[in-house]
Amino acid sequence: MFRHNGNKMVSIDEAIKAVLEHSNTISLEINLPLESAGNSILFKDVIAPIHMPPFRQSAMDGYALNLHEDTTYSLIGEVKAGDSQQPLLSRGEATRIFTGAPVPDSANAVVVQEKVVLKGENIVVERNPVKEQNVRPIAEQVKKGEVALKKGTRLTPAAIGYLSSLGVTEISVYKKPSVAIVATGNELIEAGKALTYGKIYESNSVMLKSALLSCGFDAISIHKVKDNYNETREKIRNVIAGNDVVLISGGISVGDYDFVGKALKELGIDQVFYKVNQKPGKPLFFGKNEDTILFALPGNPAAALTCFYMYVYASLQKMTGADNTLTKVTATSTSYFQKKGDRPQFLKAIFKDGKVTISEGQSSAMLQTFAVANALVQMPGELEEIKINDTVEVLLLPV
Ligand code: AMP
Ligand code: MG
Repeated sequence: MFRHNGNKMVSIDEAIKAVLEHSNTISLEINLPLESAGNSILFKDVIAPIHMPPFRQSAMDGYALNLHEDTTYSLIGEVKAGDSQQPLLSRGEATRIFTGAPVPDSANAVVVQEKVVLKGENIVVERNPVKEQNVRPIAEQVKKGEVALKKGTRLTPAAIGYLSSLGVTEISVYKKPSVAIVATGNELIEAGKALTYGKIYESNSVMLKSALLSCGFDAISIHKVKDNYNETREKIRNVIAGNDVVLISGGISVGDYDFVGKALKELGIDQVFYKVNQKPGKPLFFGKNEDTILFALPGNPAAALTCFYMYVYASLQKMTGADNTLTKVTATSTSYFQKKGDRPQFLKAIFKDGKVTISEGQSSAMLQTFAVANALVQMPGELEEIKINDTVEVLLLPV
């Protein structure tokens, strides 16, 4: 296993690899009502309890036919969606039918109403449809007893809809990790209180909580500590005990009042790496303590959020049975950007239709540009500039 006990910087790829290696799937099964299981990962295959569709369904509003060679049919009745009776059609007979209605066993095609002329008791079709045209066959989507969705599938809204259409009401999914967020800093004031000189509103905890919620993780607690060594150490000790993941914000740099590193050492946290060769987010710490994994994120808000999307997101996905990092695409840059220094950089950007616009403000403290970004451009360390029309790598944010 990858472990970097020295304080040597690791590369982005090494950091992602190490995070994934150390983020073990929480192999705990929980049963949830289907409607609350959005974003969860299936713990086992779901077996279809019924055929879907359960009967031959009309895909159109029109007429169900018992086909013959002629194009004139005698009309004998009507089947609406939800009807349980089926008329018995002889050769050359038709019945009015509507979308979703059961196609009588004695009918072998449906013709759409636009292609039909009514003539008294008869209908005349433009041309005879082919057999089973506009009929959704029984079990077209899935057969009763077969696998409807496989273990490991993420429950998207479509997946929830699909399982619901099969009559599923409860579902077995991986337990999601519980996450504690610890915000450190003397300068931090809770929004809603008056801002005094030298203070700023605390925003990382709310931001991280929102990021977690939007990725489907809802077992979250928020804790705040001052830049005080004992307080920091004891708070971290407490939250480690009851959580699968701990996210610490701030205090992990090398300032005189950055106590997180010292506290983690004192608590015997097993360091996997500290410092990643990247901008923003260089002073990122990742470690482990028995079953709890720990990220100490830089306090600068844009750096903290970038680290969340690059590493914490991957870790949480892995823990819930998925193996996911951000989706990477290539795009054409519509901007010029000149990099300072030789660290690989994540640039806040807006991606649309194969083109990407790099935001103006790239400071690690700046959320204003992050607030309207939907992607990060990953700029390699050796690259000095990105020119207009250059092809760049873009990571899509799960926002
Ligand atoms: P630190 O990593 O603690 O040195 O903090 C780096 C910068 O991020 C400083 O400007 C802090 O004031 C700011 N910062 C730290 N924590 C937070 C927070 N929870 N919310 C907003 N800004 C923060
Ligand atoms: Mg601080």
